[in-house]
Amino acid sequence: MATDGTKGVVTLVCLTCGKEKYFTNDVPAAATCEQCGGTVFRTFTTPTEPDEAAIDALESQARSISYGDSSPDSTQGDARDLDLI
Ligand SMILES: [Zn+2]
Repeated sequence: MATDGTKGVVTLVCLTCGKEKYFTNDVPAAATCEQCGGTVFRTFTTPTEPDEAAIDALESQARSISYGDSSPDSTQGDARDLDLI
C-alpha cells in the first residue's frame, strides 16, 4: 500500500436532506445522495493522521518487541519514556 500523505475522513453532507456520506481517501468527483438523489453536498474533512501515526507507532513497537529479542533493555527504556510523558 503506497498511501503516504495526508489521510482523513471526508464527510459529504447532503444540502437537501442532510444525509451524511463518509469517504476515506477516495472521494468521488460526483456523488449522489442515496436518500433523496441530491447531488449538492457540503464537504467536511476530518484528518485522522494523528490516530494513524499512533497506530503505526504501536504496530512498529509490537513488531520490534516480537522480532527484537536481542535488545530487551532498549524496549523497556522506551516504555518508561512513554509513561513519563
Ligand atoms: Zn439527500
